[in-house]
Amino acid sequence: TDSDTADEAVRATCDDATLCKRFATSKGYWKDPYMQYFVRSVGERKAPEINRGYYARVQGVNQLLDAFIRKTECNCQVINLGAGLDTTFWRLKDENLLPRKFFEVDFPTIVARKIHNIKTKPPLSKPIIETHSTDSLLLDSHSLDSDRYCIIGADLRNIATMEERLKKFQLNTELPTLLLSECVLVYITPSQSSNLVHWAAETFHTAMFINYEQVNMSDRFGQVMIENLQRRQCTLAGVEVCQSLDSQKERFLKTGWEHADALDMMTVYSMLPQEDVARIERLEFLDERELLQQLLQHYSICWATKDKLNLGLSHLTF
Ligand code: SAM
Repeated sequence: TDSDTADEAVRATCDDATLCKRFATSKGYWKDPYMQYFVRSVGERKAPEINRGYYARVQGVNQLLDAFIRKTECNCQVINLGAGLDTTFWRLKDENLLPRKFFEVDFPTIVARKIHNIKTKPPLSKPIIETHSTDSLLLDSHSLDSDRYCIIGADLRNIATMEERLKKFQLNTELPTLLLSECVLVYITPSQSSNLVHWAAETFHTAMFINYEQVNMSDRFGQVMIENLQRRQCTLAGVEVCQSLDSQKERFLKTGWEHADALDMMTVYSMLPQEDVARIERLEFLDERELLQQLLQHYSICWATKDKLNLGLSHLTF
C-alpha cells in the first residue's frame, strides 16, 4: 500500500544518517569507533557543509544529553525514539556516563538489523554483556534486553503498544528520564508528535526531551529541502511544526512541559567549544561560508524540561 511505501522511505532515512555520520567520522570530525560495525563502507564523499552540519548535530545533542546525565549523576534513564543505528550507548559506556538503563525504539525491521549487527560483532556485544549481571540476556530478532541496554521494535504512532513494551523491559517512570528524537518527529503528523510528547510529560515527573530537526521551512531554501525529500517518496508529515523556533517550543509548552528552549543550529555551532570548531574547520576547505549558514539555519535543537525533583533541569543549556 501507499502507506507501506511511505514508511519504507522513512526507514531508509536511517541509512542516510548513518552514512553521513560514518563519512564525517572517517574525515576526523569526531570519533566514533562503533559506527563501522553498522556500516562497513565509508560511502561516497559528502560536501564539507554537510559534514560540518552533522558535526554540529552530534556535538549539540551530545552536550545536552551529557549535561542531563551528569546532573542526575547517572541515576536516570534515556529513551532514544527513532534511534536507527545510533551508537550513543557505546560512547556513554566508554565515557563512564551510562544511565541506569538506555532504551531505544525504532521500527521492527530497523531493530532486527541492529540486533543482527550486535549479535555478530563482538566489539558491539561485549559492552552489553559486561554490563549485564546474569547469564539470561534476552536477544531475539525483535528485541534485546539487558540490565543497561534495551532495544524494542515499535511504532511511535502507537503509544499504547510502545509503552507496554517499554514497561515489559522495566521502564521506571519514577526515574529522571531523558527522551531524545533526532530527525524523527518530522516524519509523523503534528498530532502524532504532540501525543508522543504529551505521553512523555504525563508519564515522567522529572524529564527532559531533546528534539533535533528542521526549522524555518517556509522560505525558499526550506521548500527545496522539502522537495528533495519528496522526490524520494518521503513525506514530511510533521513539517508544519518546523516553521519556526516558536512552533517547536509550542509543541512542548502545550503538552505539559514546564520549560522549553530552541536554537537554530548556526547559533548552536557558534556556542560549541571554539577550539574544536577551529580544528574541524581546518579539516576541509569550505569556500562558501554562506552555504553552511543557510543549511544550519534550517535545523534546530529544541529541548523541554519538567522537574518535580528540582534538579535544576531548566538551567541546562550550551
Ligand atoms: N535518530 C537516528 C539518527 O539521528 O542517527 C536516526 C534518524 S533517521 C533520519 C529516522 C529514524 O526514525 C529511522 O530510523 C526511522 O525508522 C525512525 N522512525 C520514523 N518514524 C518512526 C515511527 N513511526 N516509529 C518508529 N520509528 C520511526
